[in-house]
Amino acid sequence: MPARNRQIHLAARPEAEPAPKHFDLVETSVPDPGPGEILVRNLWMSVDPYMRGRMWDRPSYVPPFQVGEPLEGGAVGEVIGGDGHPAGTLVVHNLGWREYAVVPARHALPIDPDLAPPQTYLGVLGMPGLTAYVGLLDIGGLREGDVVFVSAAAGAVGSLAGQIAKARGHRVIGSAGSPEKVAYVRDELGFDEAFSYRDGPVARSLHQAAPDGIDLYFDNVGGDHLEAALGALRVNGRVTLCGAIAFYNSATATGPRNLGLAIGKRLTLRGFIVSDHQDRREAFLAEVGGLLREGKVAARATVVEGIERAPSAFIGLLSGENTGKMLVRLADQ
Ligand code: NDP
Repeated sequence: MPARNRQIHLAARPEAEPAPKHFDLVETSVPDPGPGEILVRNLWMSVDPYMRGRMWDRPSYVPPFQVGEPLEGGAVGEVIGGDGHPAGTLVVHNLGWREYAVVPARHALPIDPDLAPPQTYLGVLGMPGLTAYVGLLDIGGLREGDVVFVSAAAGAVGSLAGQIAKARGHRVIGSAGSPEKVAYVRDELGFDEAFSYRDGPVARSLHQAAPDGIDLYFDNVGGDHLEAALGALRVNGRVTLCGAIAFYNSATATGPRNLGLAIGKRLTLRGFIVSDHQDRREAFLAEVGGLLREGKVAARATVVEGIERAPSAFIGLLSGENTGKMLVRLADQ
């Protein structure tokens, strides 16, 4: 039995951008698993934009994190004891932000390490991957001939949404926050066009990339991106409202000033939360697992080492330090 566990607690609620002072590194003993529980040695943990929402004290689709309590989130680890999965099983579960976790066995999902490395189940084959799949196909209702625009296109969700659309034969445009990311989106992910939203008004860059308009906008950003997309959408266009990261560090969000366009253009804007769509996991793993095996999907990650650096990984995620999935490596397998 390992002697000590280190975990990250919420020290205070950020009022704007999170900073190191909002997190505490706390040492505890390794908890004992009870009946129906397993002890997991976490190998990788995920930092995700939605965690910023849980730092506000307000009602939402998940309860807020509590000050003085450990944070939670996706992790992949190896079962080392307890009852429910044999020792050595690799599982994905929701008690990240700590080196060791006691998890109800029914909340831990065994993964197939032969298909892809374990950390892939926090990215392309995990929650962000399912978000891209459901957001594009079920919520966005991708149709033959659609021209697709994806924001935060170099990130975990956006990069896969665009690649699935490309694999299905669509013209795809992406936006991202730096020339390096734009090159990644175009050259490695195979998008037809990409631009940096820092190079000028999004509406102008989008018009240059898609002069005849777009049919589906996969929105990860909100704000100026959503306004630009509403302007560029053609009649019967659709918007997948996946995220609005432009507003995650502020207590309020503003809506698009040109929403009225949705009426005349007969647009559909539809939000969703991925956890409502677990029934799509099998179809998602079949399609995206297949693309991954055939080398048709690129899946970069930015890796930060050690639990003590998890807060800086999270802070960096919100300011765009990641290309592909932002991950924290906690231990070697
Ligand atoms: P990413 O890997 O895309 O990382 C976040 C990225 O957002 C950063 O890398 C940064 O890239 C970009 N960004 C940050 N601030 C801004 C800004 N002001 N304007 C434009 N871009 C910005 O994260 P995920 O792939 O995990 O998540 C993408 C989106 O999907 C998020 O909005 C998230 O909340 C949402 N989501 C929604 C789910 C749902 O169920 N609805 C589930 C999972 C994710 P850059 O350098 O390009 O600015």
